[in-house]
Amino acid sequence: MADTEISVQDKIKEITSLRAAPFSKEGMMLMTRAYLFALNAHKNHTRYSGEPYMVHLHETAKNLAKLGMGSHTIAAGLLHDVIEDTGIDQKIIQAEFGNEILGLIEGVTKLGTLKYRGLKRHTESLRKLFIAMSKDLRVLIIKLADRLHNMQTLMHVPLHKQKRIAEETLEIFAPLAYRLGMRSLNRELEDLAFPYVYPKEHAEIKKMLKQKSKETGVHLEKNLRSLQKALAKENVRNTHISFRIKGLYSTYKKWLRKNKDINQIYDISAIRIVVPSIHDCYHVLGIIHGLWRPMPGRIKDYIAFPKPNGYQSIHTTIFTGDGSIIEVQIRTEDMERDAEFGIASHLIYKEGRPADETSNFVRLMQLLSYRTWFSGEKSDSQSGATPHAPDASTPLWVQQLAESQAEITEPQEFLENLRADFFQHRVFVFTPMGDVVDLPVDSSPIDFAYAIHSDIGNHISGAKVNGKLVSLDTKLHNGDVVEIQTKQSSKPSSKWLEFCKTGVAKRKIQASLQPQDQNHSA
Ligand code: MN
Repeated sequence: MADTEISVQDKIKEITSLRAAPFSKEGMMLMTRAYLFALNAHKNHTRYSGEPYMVHLHETAKNLAKLGMGSHTIAAGLLHDVIEDTGIDQKIIQAEFGNEILGLIEGVTKLGTLKYRGLKRHTESLRKLFIAMSKDLRVLIIKLADRLHNMQTLMHVPLHKQKRIAEETLEIFAPLAYRLGMRSLNRELEDLAFPYVYPKEHAEIKKMLKQKSKETGVHLEKNLRSLQKALAKENVRNTHISFRIKGLYSTYKKWLRKNKDINQIYDISAIRIVVPSIHDCYHVLGIIHGLWRPMPGRIKDYIAFPKPNGYQSIHTTIFTGDGSIIEVQIRTEDMERDAEFGIASHLIYKEGRPADETSNFVRLMQLLSYRTWFSGEKSDSQSGATPHAPDASTPLWVQQLAESQAEITEPQEFLENLRADFFQHRVFVFTPMGDVVDLPVDSSPIDFAYAIHSDIGNHISGAKVNGKLVSLDTKLHNGDVVEIQTKQSSKPSSKWLEFCKTGVAKRKIQASLQPQDQNHSA
């Protein structure tokens, strides 16, 4: 046993060294206890690769430390498969590690029961459900750290499972990371999943990128040198200049949008300049435009107008004069940290107590309300500079958040109200296949039918909720399984308008009633 404890100390050191901020003594002890507990619980358990299961938990914990998470989240990360895979009683975990960590593990376990079944139409609802279900954002972050390691080891998983897991990663987890502003995680997940889902396209894009970066690379050093000289001449100090190549999957998506013309993608290579202040950002933009000719219509000020996921930076595309075109991204250190780690960088948990949960939750709820929510499109319009104003369907309470934030005296109570409010606005119901559909509260089977397809709505003849026949004005509740029966001869009735909640249903019903109305008035 003593030997195990010594080697566990080394393992813990390996994890904790990945986070810049040091851990408290209590935090170190907690993680050590969690490590020993997991080691024992999974002792007879191996991965598809044949490796001990503990390797997966160790790597998940490392991913969490890299994201800057605290000891409680890392401990929960070490224990995240204990309930599902070893059948250890919740009461034992509660006694050993307390309610907070038990809650995190239970949250991760619950999320694991939701499966993506390849119905693209409902992926948005599934993503929303993921967020709605994780009352604590740390649950989502553990899930993402877990998924990252599962993707890194996907080659060991049986072939027939690989594609489904990779698709789920592309459709659910990577966009989730993106919406939470966790760019590096988003990119890693995408590029790991890409070859499993689109092997041919992956090979093609890889070849194109290699060729492109060769072209840019020739003059890169010279260009970076003239940039450094110009900055020094203008007395801009403490800058950090780096160079990045666009991710493979992200290039692929843009390539599709640009009619498969790689020459229309200008941000394949980008120079990134990180400066101390916002003032420096605009100063550096001026210097760059003095040095190189900017491409018209490609100057994007995401500092004045952040992207919906909070991303801030100035982008400009320049002709370097040697035949290459390159994007330059200018931002502050804070913006850089936010862009890489997103919401995780705000989740600085004091050991035991969330430091700033309220503002995280407010920010998340604001994200939830925007029209661009999970559209899967990285906004890249030519103008770029459209502020992300909430649309008309934004619930009032979300619009009021910004003002009311200052007056919050009791964050705990506020949070609870907010959560209750969120659930008051939406219900999540399931198709018989287990796909999630989210609807406004008090929605009926009619709303559900139109959410699936207008043909189903237009020919609905009956509905079953949880296996029982119900009337069409039945109010749906969270978790209901809804089955719609159709008949070719069935038609919408004007009565439906009295209890329908969704705009889609109302519009479609009215459209199908219209010819009759005209007859009446004539
Ligand atoms: Mn796992």
